[in-house]
Amino acid sequence: MDMSKNDLCEKIISSCRNMNASGLNQGTSGNISVRLDDGMLITPSGIAYDQMEAEDLVFVNGNGEYDAGKVPSSEWRFHLACYHAREDAKAVVHNHAMYSTIVSILNKPIPAIHYMIAAAGGNEIPIVDYATYGTQKLSELVIAGIKNSKAILLRHHGMIATGESLDKAMWLAVEVEALAQMYVNLLQITGSPECLPDEEIKVVLGKFVNYGLREK
Ligand code: 13P
Ligand code: ZN
Repeated sequence: MDMSKNDLCEKIISSCRNMNASGLNQGTSGNISVRLDDGMLITPSGIAYDQMEAEDLVFVNGNGEYDAGKVPSSEWRFHLACYHAREDAKAVVHNHAMYSTIVSILNKPIPAIHYMIAAAGGNEIPIVDYATYGTQKLSELVIAGIKNSKAILLRHHGMIATGESLDKAMWLAVEVEALAQMYVNLLQITGSPECLPDEEIKVVLGKFVNYGLREK
């Protein structure tokens, strides 16, 4: 089903509101984009999600250009970088989910503590080093991380999840946060929780070719 640009804007806004209402994110942190033509439609910078309207969303083309007077998310560079790095990415969700951010501050990738780690396409959720929000440097770090994993942690910042649709990207963001919460709890019980071996993750990755969020 092809959505009109306005439907796409409304879908992005409702996803932003769900992201905060579910507790996955808070305040004006985070941003969401959907691939469109050679660029993307992205949330504006610093507007509360419950006040956001379709006309606030910004189309940024593949060269990073947008209409004067529009204010795209400060993270438009790394969103565009995700689309350039991953052909399968049709949507990008960024947030400051609590447990994912805690793990990012510990500067640890999330290891294979649970088979759902495979939802991001590998045996861990990798972490990329810190760079100031909104910078070219951060988008370069994001490219290096996201080309190997559908989701990554950003050190001292939060997470990014991509997907073949906005619902799938959001589904993955929820799973990453659940894994992060498990990991933070496990770290309080034991410094080095047991992980699934790589051979088992390979088996799960094989099954995940036909598994995950089924869109109706
Ligand atoms: P924006 O409001 O500019 O999208 O910034 C939020 C954010 O999470 C920056 O990393
Ligand atoms: Zn952020």
